[in-house]
Amino acid sequence: HDSWLSLPNPAGVPVDVCAGPGVPIESAAIDELLTVLETADTLRALARATPGLAEEPRIDRVVCTPDFHKGAGIPIGTVLRTTGALIPQAVGNDINCGMRVEATGLTVDRVRPHLDALEGRLRHLFFEGGRGIGLTAAQREGLLRHGLPGLLTEKPGTDGAWRHVTGDENVERLHGPGYPVDTADDFRDWINSGGTARKGTSYDSIIGSVGGGNHFAELQYVSAVHDGATAYAWGLAPGRIVTMVHSGSLSLGHQANGTGRTQAKAMWPRGVPAPANGILPMLTDERTRDRRQKYLTAFANAANFAVGNRFFLSLMMRAGLAELGEVEPRLVYDAPHNLMWPGDDGTIVHRKGATPAGGPERTGWGEPVIVPGSMGAPSYLLRGLGNAKALASACHGAGRSVPRGAASRGSDADLDAFLAEFRVVTPLNHRDPAVTARRDIVDAWRRDLKQEAPWAYKEVGPVVDSLRTAGVAEPVVELKPILTVKG
Ligand code: 5GP
Ligand code: MN
Ligand code: MN
Repeated sequence: HDSWLSLPNPAGVPVDVCAGPGVPIESAAIDELLTVLETADTLRALARATPGLAEEPRIDRVVCTPDFHKGAGIPIGTVLRTTGALIPQAVGNDINCGMRVEATGLTVDRVRPHLDALEGRLRHLFFEGGRGIGLTAAQREGLLRHGLPGLLTEKPGTDGAWRHVTGDENVERLHGPGYPVDTADDFRDWINSGGTARKGTSYDSIIGSVGGGNHFAELQYVSAVHDGATAYAWGLAPGRIVTMVHSGSLSLGHQANGTGRTQAKAMWPRGVPAPANGILPMLTDERTRDRRQKYLTAFANAANFAVGNRFFLSLMMRAGLAELGEVEPRLVYDAPHNLMWPGDDGTIVHRKGATPAGGPERTGWGEPVIVPGSMGAPSYLLRGLGNAKALASACHGAGRSVPRGAASRGSDADLDAFLAEFRVVTPLNHRDPAVTARRDIVDAWRRDLKQEAPWAYKEVGPVVDSLRTAGVAEPVVELKPILTVKG
């Protein structure tokens, strides 16, 4: 069993599904994917209505990763390569959602005895105004245009999370879209909106927030090493503390998607009916370049913002740890999982809830692949093998096994048992009796947490085995969680 299945479909697109033993393939997600493939017909209709195209627009190839499951519209875990067209919806709503992992010099034995104090510090940093990120307008715009190098060309602040900038970030680049980036008109208001007091409505108040649901900032330690040489090269050793953050572009991505939809409609040729599956592709034709560029500029701004957001979340984790000793942070990787990657050959790889897994030829040891399990369950770091059949892509998590609705109605006893043994830091302090006296608020909080409980997600072991036996990526270390911050 090599963990690959091919999925025949009326559109005739090559579709390969990566799923080994113990990884169920959700039939509802397969049905949804078949609907998505009808976009092949839309592309043909667009081509007929647009004479003189340089190349025939088409969907070249689709790959489903082992965490493939139903999401809003296109399923999570879908990798889709196009020629002559791009598909904004194949990226996912939260543009450049991703995972960032840093190794540290601290050990689990050093940290474990201080978890009460650490929990308090992290609550303050994440939820009680402690992060102290005050940006200048130039920093805000620099980040949108050039990513972290743009943010850091101006002098960083010396308060709050900023105190924990170490300098290696100066060489970080968004290995993402790589478009020449201007500032989209969409974001002028954001750039000029400082101040953390305007909760949720200003740039400075949203940057450094985790975001809801499955987003997190987690403290983990290296619990097993599977590939010693690569682990060593990445700064990882048994017992070493690691931080992992999962977040995206917050409101900015949603705003860029709105622009994408507006522009796609505006460039839609007369006479081509609106597609039944609701997916609006854009041809990469010279004549519609300006409209497309409006979207791509907003898209790249949002993508760059997401990298900055994850950077600050990592700084806040460093700040929490700093009282326990030298943190010695070292970036392992920032891995986007909702993005487009244009190739040199004119193709565009879209990943929605899927992460790049390039091979050693590009990145030495193989591109780091981050596969979180769930809060309370182990996560993995792997090294990519650049598998062409997989479009050099891997899953970005264990993936959900129970839909949100059903999970939120799960067992109270199980949740209590989980909370008694695991540390979850959320905006609601469930250890404070004054807070927990509010039954309605606590009940809503409990329903949300149940959706994120370990039993709502697949077992990560078989998911990682699928990647290995399919020749997509090799495990490097297993990480166990000790505390999770949830938005
Ligand atoms: P997404 O929700 O972006 O599709 O995927 C996130 C992945 O992260 C999920 O598939 C799940 O396996 C994992 N995950 C969700 N919540 C947590 C958490 O709190 N901690 C860890 N380590 N993993 C999580
Ligand atoms: Mn997201
Ligand atoms: Mn995500």
